[in-house]
Amino acid sequence: MKIIKDLLTINEYSRPGLKLNKVQGVVVHWVANPNTSAKANRNFFENRRNGKSGYGSAHYIIDLDGSVILAIPPEEVAYHVGAKSYRSEAIKRLGTYPNGNTLGIECTHVDWNGKMTPETYETLVLLCADLCKKYNLNPLTDLYRHYDITGKLCHKWFVDHPTEWETFKQKVKEQMGGNMDKIAANKEQVKFNLLGKNYSFEGLIKDGKTYVTARDLLEVLGFTVGWEAQSKTVIVKKKD
Ligand SMILES: [Zn+2]
Repeated sequence: MKIIKDLLTINEYSRPGLKLNKVQGVVVHWVANPNTSAKANRNFFENRRNGKSGYGSAHYIIDLDGSVILAIPPEEVAYHVGAKSYRSEAIKRLGTYPNGNTLGIECTHVDWNGKMTPETYETLVLLCADLCKKYNLNPLTDLYRHYDITGKLCHKWFVDHPTEWETFKQKVKEQMGGNMDKIAANKEQVKFNLLGKNYSFEGLIKDGKTYVTARDLLEVLGFTVGWEAQSKTVIVKKKD
């Protein structure tokens, strides 16, 4: 995934330079202008600084070719979901000013239905997976369409095709799972001889690496294995 830093100049209308609070969601948009490039949309945001075309911007803009322009640093506020009123469900989850704790991604598209190129779609999956990992977000609950927050018909493709939206979130989840999901799907018995004793564990041998669970291996070596969910840490102790 290619991300090109092409930041807007700080200005009242599209890059206020305010610090973003803790990121609690990622909002997906369409640019609502078929076959325009990420660069053209970035420049549209930039030109808002003269005050003649209102407020609005986003952090990321995905091009038709799948490359990404970073227009606003992810530590700063962008004006992508501001509205006079918000859906009550969104207020419950994000508070009364969602611009203050969400990142915005604009997607280019090829027609007025909002259909994206395969390259744009693929990058959207990768970018959302990266951001969910970085900010510890759940792709099934913390990814939003602009529509989910304000009711605006945006990203139109995903509003008109709600099952595509569900599929998309699942793809982000799979992307975050990376190899581990594939391992679970292809598991086999892996034989070990540990200090002279034979064992067989469910696992996988792939690309010169042997995968088994830490629990299986450590428990037969005489340790107890626990899991601390909050810090996502495996806790290994000697058996009493
Ligand atoms: Zn939008």
